[in-house]
Amino acid sequence: MNYSGMNILVVGMARTGLAAAEFLVKRGARVTINDAQPASALGDAVARAAASGAAVVVGEHPADLFTRADLIVISPGVPMSLQPVAEARRRGIPVVGDMEIAFAEMKGRICAITGSNGKTTTTALTGKILSDAGLPTVIAGNIGTPLIAMLDRDSAETWFVCEMSSFQLEATVELRPRIASILNVTPDHLDRYDTFGSYASAKRRIYEKQTPEDFLVLNGDDPLLADERPASSLYYFSRKMEPTQGCFLRGDVVALSTPRARGTLMPVHQIPLKGTHNVENVMAAALMALLAGVEMPGIRKSIEGFRAVSHRLQFVAQIRGVDFFNDSKATNVDATIKALESFPGNIIVILGGKDKGGDYGPLAELCRQKVKATILIGQAADKIASSLAGACALERASSLEEAVGRGFDLATPGDTVLLAPACASFDMFRDFEHRGDVFVSAVTRLKARVS
Ligand code: ADP
Repeated sequence: MNYSGMNILVVGMARTGLAAAEFLVKRGARVTINDAQPASALGDAVARAAASGAAVVVGEHPADLFTRADLIVISPGVPMSLQPVAEARRRGIPVVGDMEIAFAEMKGRICAITGSNGKTTTTALTGKILSDAGLPTVIAGNIGTPLIAMLDRDSAETWFVCEMSSFQLEATVELRPRIASILNVTPDHLDRYDTFGSYASAKRRIYEKQTPEDFLVLNGDDPLLADERPASSLYYFSRKMEPTQGCFLRGDVVALSTPRARGTLMPVHQIPLKGTHNVENVMAAALMALLAGVEMPGIRKSIEGFRAVSHRLQFVAQIRGVDFFNDSKATNVDATIKALESFPGNIIVILGGKDKGGDYGPLAELCRQKVKATILIGQAADKIASSLAGACALERASSLEEAVGRGFDLATPGDTVLLAPACASFDMFRDFEHRGDVFVSAVTRLKARVS
């Protein structure tokens, strides 16, 4: 694509926007980068943007910036529904994300992973299997580094293993992954989508441009993914059935049935991650790796060497027989359900934070069965309390540190104190990592105090 002389507006001045601006300036475009936040809130980003050679406009979204652009590059944090973006689209101005720009330039292939939960874990695992097998591999996207910033590692042999959020998928047009996967579709981000249906449609965009030479890996147990009709070659992973083409559970082993490999991959107990949801992630990653050309023994060995990504059902410590687990990334109800299902019972769970418009009702039955007490924190505490009334003991804490102490007081040896909040973190923390770090340090201090 020739960007030379084009008037391009980059919206959003965080990592992705900055990387896109730098890339496009180097390609000869006239780039303006815009963010609604004032310079004082943007820190180093303003200087970095200016150094790239882009014009910098902050503090507002001036309407004419959008309507004068030949192309708008939107960051994943900026909604397509933002008024000046919607107006530009109405006028026919293309609005794309950094991945679309990167894809148009790329010689290598994309292995793209989306879903409501499990994206980061599955992306990290798939990337590890491919790179352990010696394939030139780049892990990018929502997991950390923007795809557009990784093109210096592009070659015809490169696999870009890319985590894609539904927001990023909305900003794709031609993007065509060689391998794509939708891990699951459960309610999330209902604060940003009008309906669950429009959220699910965003996820489908991952395979809409695929052709018969490409591959799609879907969760065969997800009712919302049962009737997909892709042009690409379809593989399922399932815990409940044996698909004709895919990966599944046979008793307590993970097995494969594909044109390239058939038979046992590994026993479930050799998977070093907790919870049946992680068996699903492993099955998806194994299929994608197989489709990228990795052999079964290599896949098995890489899975055995994989460790939970931080803040995803991560074991923190045992204190006087009480286990502490950090699942701060459980930012929606389904992830919390999966976390609770991963333990046999005797759980003291810390829930709450910033509400995302979801329904906490589905947690009640599991709380009744497995939870000794729930400790509520943050803005969503009242809403959760009314959904869980009568299901288990409910307590409140004004800080996460207090919740950790209270959890330990309520626990007896053999119990688990689990942070799996079912909410976003932004009411009390910078992000879910910050929340997880606060939890881990509170547990570490508690351990030092009592042992
Ligand atoms: P994402 O990148 O999609 O948010 P993560 O791997 O970061 O996915 O995990 C997010 C949360 O969802 C964590 O709490 C994790 O334990 C849980 N989780 C991971 N995989 C799955 C899955 N396949 N289904 C449901 N929940 C999952």
